[in-house]
Amino acid sequence: MSEQHNSSNIYERFAQVTKQMKDLVDNMEQLQVQITEILEKNVELSIENEHLRQVIKQNQPRHSDDQLSGSRQNLKELYQQGFHVCSEYYGKRLAPNESCTFCLDAIFGHEQGVTK
Ligand SMILES: [Zn+2]
Repeated sequence: MSEQHNSSNIYERFAQVTKQMKDLVDNMEQLQVQITEILEKNVELSIENEHLRQVIKQNQPRHSDDQLSGSRQNLKELYQQGFHVCSEYYGKRLAPNESCTFCLDAIFGHEQGVTK
């Protein structure tokens, strides 16, 4: 009797631990979704911020840039980290090895008359 009790106890514990693991995995999946959302939101805000800075800069009298301006440099870094920086998809993740002409245009496009 006590042995039977023991093994049913083990079974119960196993079922309990299994359930806990499932809960844990569920939690982790939810967290991952939230992390992705937060990262995307963060990039979205960074890009918006850069756009605003550019607008401010454009309203200032002089600009003398031989290379990419600071804001475009930031966009380039975000893009290299795998996020869209174009207005079409901004803040969304790029698929691995995906390139986006809109993004490239946002980073390198018509800043100066010089061609690449
Ligand atoms: Zn893009």
